[in-house]
Amino acid sequence: MGMFERDTEIYRNRDALREDYQPDELVGRDEELERYKTALQPVINGEQPNNIFLYGKTGVGKTAGTRFLLDHLIEDAAQYEDIDLTVKMLNCDGLSSSYQIATRLVNKFRADSNQISTTGYPRATVYDMLWSELDDCGGTVIIVLDEVDHIEDDSILYQLPRARANGNLSEAKIGIIGISNDFSFRDNLSPKVKSSLCEEELQFPAYDANELIKILSQRAQVAFHEDVVDDGVIELCAAYGAKDAGDARQSLDLLMKTGDLARDYDTDTVTDDLVRDAREELERGRIREGISGLTQHGHLVLYALLTLEQQGETPVRSRDIRPRYTSFAEQVGVDPLVPRRMRDHLGELSMLGIISAVERNEGRRGGTYREYSTDMDVGMILKALEETVEQVGIHESVSEMVDQETTLSEYT
Ligand code: ADP
Ligand code: MG
Repeated sequence: MGMFERDTEIYRNRDALREDYQPDELVGRDEELERYKTALQPVINGEQPNNIFLYGKTGVGKTAGTRFLLDHLIEDAAQYEDIDLTVKMLNCDGLSSSYQIATRLVNKFRADSNQISTTGYPRATVYDMLWSELDDCGGTVIIVLDEVDHIEDDSILYQLPRARANGNLSEAKIGIIGISNDFSFRDNLSPKVKSSLCEEELQFPAYDANELIKILSQRAQVAFHEDVVDDGVIELCAAYGAKDAGDARQSLDLLMKTGDLARDYDTDTVTDDLVRDAREELERGRIREGISGLTQHGHLVLYALLTLEQQGETPVRSRDIRPRYTSFAEQVGVDPLVPRRMRDHLGELSMLGIISAVERNEGRRGGTYREYSTDMDVGMILKALEETVEQVGIHESVSEMVDQETTLSEYT
């Protein structure tokens, strides 16, 4: 026996739970897909395609739904001799300018051996290259700009839909599909871009629990062996998912984490209890990420509250956190923020779910104030604050926890 041994008790095909897995059928999204299909109908009619703007929060099936419909469109268009359809999908994540989009698009039409450099040309030159690639391709061309909200200047969003009207194209009929997680992106477009890019607007709403059950069941069937997943596991994942954000990706992640725990624990069933463990673990990861994204003052405020918690002083008012925070700030040599700004950081921490804030009444004098305490495992927060603790110094209230390397390493 080698050092590694395959374990396949739980999963038949774990990859089916990954986001990039393309299911054969989309479930629970019929109405929206029907509308999307109607918007694409001109392509089959041999007409100039609509420009479509699709928006909705993350994980609501925008990318999967687009792929699904376009795959069918390509297949069905092939039946008509007079339609020559080309589809190009570009994800704009990591690209911020129209220039970058244009160079990537040019390269999508070119062979690997003939790619252009993504820097160094004047913009007009790149656009000219794009028009000639499009005309060489000819026929109907659909360009999908996924996560289009990453683009900071809208030049390409103006140029592409107008290319034919502006005389830049004579052969190709192009249609743009812009996909965005962020509806405000549309509102911030200039009116001339908005009117051409958003000819057809589609919105995908968040999933409810029933829809998530359909999506998760479909994937679980492919991913897990028969009889491995307990009744109720899917429902529980879906219930959490619907409560959190109605995000199919997040729910699939939860199901996968649950399966992974079952595998790690060497059990042969995936149970409700494991869903709860998995959720906690994912949450912990998110909190750790949340903490690492805070500014130095956020870290100092949190460290101050944490030490007060350890001393049994919580729940505590902002003005009583202040002296500790101020002394920590002095210790690292930064000016403490004014009370109001410090309170903003407490607000942010409670929004992230790292601390909790409870509103209290002032009593007869009226008015309200807030009391704060930590809402997560102290050892875990401490671990995430490692660097701050190092800079400020180890406060006596947490010295035992920091000294015990083993306690901390549990959370790494
Ligand atoms: P978005 O692009 O809106 O952020 P995705 O299309 O990437 O979301 O969907 C996230 C994940 O959920 C993908 O793995 C996708 O396959 C799956 N998914 C989303 N909606 C459905 C659906 N209606 N049926 C089946 N799987 C879905
Ligand atoms: Mg997407």
